[in-house]
Amino acid sequence: MQYKGEAIYHDGICAKANELELSFDIETGELYFEHDNLKKSWAPYSYHFEKRGATLILFNARDYSNFEISDPAFAVPFLQRFDGIAQASFYTRLIRAGFAAHVGLALITLGIIYFMSQHAIPFASEKAVYLIPPSFDDKIGETYYNEFIQFNYVDENKTKLVQKFVDKMELDNKKKIKITVVNSYEVNAFALPSGHVVVYTGILDQMERYEELAALVSHEVSHINKRHSMRALLRELSGQLFFSAILGDVSRFTDILMSNANELKGLSYSRNLETEADREGMKLMRKNKINIVGFQLLFERLSAVTKGAEPPEFLNTHPLSSDRIKAAKKNMYRGEINHELRRIFEEIGMSSEETEDEFSESLKEIQEILENN
Ligand SMILES: [Zn+2]
Repeated sequence: MQYKGEAIYHDGICAKANELELSFDIETGELYFEHDNLKKSWAPYSYHFEKRGATLILFNARDYSNFEISDPAFAVPFLQRFDGIAQASFYTRLIRAGFAAHVGLALITLGIIYFMSQHAIPFASEKAVYLIPPSFDDKIGETYYNEFIQFNYVDENKTKLVQKFVDKMELDNKKKIKITVVNSYEVNAFALPSGHVVVYTGILDQMERYEELAALVSHEVSHINKRHSMRALLRELSGQLFFSAILGDVSRFTDILMSNANELKGLSYSRNLETEADREGMKLMRKNKINIVGFQLLFERLSAVTKGAEPPEFLNTHPLSSDRIKAAKKNMYRGEINHELRRIFEEIGMSSEETEDEFSESLKEIQEILENN
């Protein structure tokens, strides 16, 4: 759509004022006029404008020509187009910078938004864990747990025994670790921020040695000690949290987290968090003088049984990175046999009935096979 109005034109060469009709295309910002019987046009990025009282001045920096316009038929739509959306001179400059600059700026803006949403915001959100009081971890964990056990069958006897096993270990935990063994074929285990560790009979059935259970427990408890599920939840919800933060609605933060408590089980931790849980877990194994081969054994066994299927939490950086196995190998530590843990593990009912000597002997064999792999 075009707007026309009376204008006074100076051609930049002589001082003569020419009265003529100036048109303006509101879509493109292009100006059209006729001077000395020639049709001329100014592209939108070739001129800039200034308001002097009621007069609008348009300059063309290339040839110093200019227009003075007092006709509201032209000036009003022109100013609405440019001045209205661009109070700040930054924007008026941009508008005059033309199409290429607009596309460039749009791409840069999109790039920044993309980077923020992919990296900066999730990263920042993860750090926001320090702003959330640890008491909230209990609240959200308990909320999820209470719902979870309504739909799952708890094996009371195994729960008691695994709890006994865990209580014999020194786990650097500030929260009481509460074990729940759920009767299910699912090969899985997961930790909740409130200190619950849920272990499925499906994963217990895969184990043959107490070192493996100790590895699983050490890994899951490290997720709790380091508040990983809270960090992963914050990362997952970073988009929503970010927008409620920029809208100044920070009180909605905990509401958003609470209403997503059901995400706690299916959370996938980032590779960094898994690596940290392994590293911290191996430290706990050492502290308890338990052979770190438990980690490696569990990795190998679980990746064999869950091939192609949804991997258990313990392996959820899939495909199970060989880096994790390598790290376990590198941290090799033999420790010593913990008879108490071994006895409890036998009671849970998964281990073979080996004599003490056979048990030590088979561990040596396993260790050798794994080390030579
Ligand atoms: Zn994990």
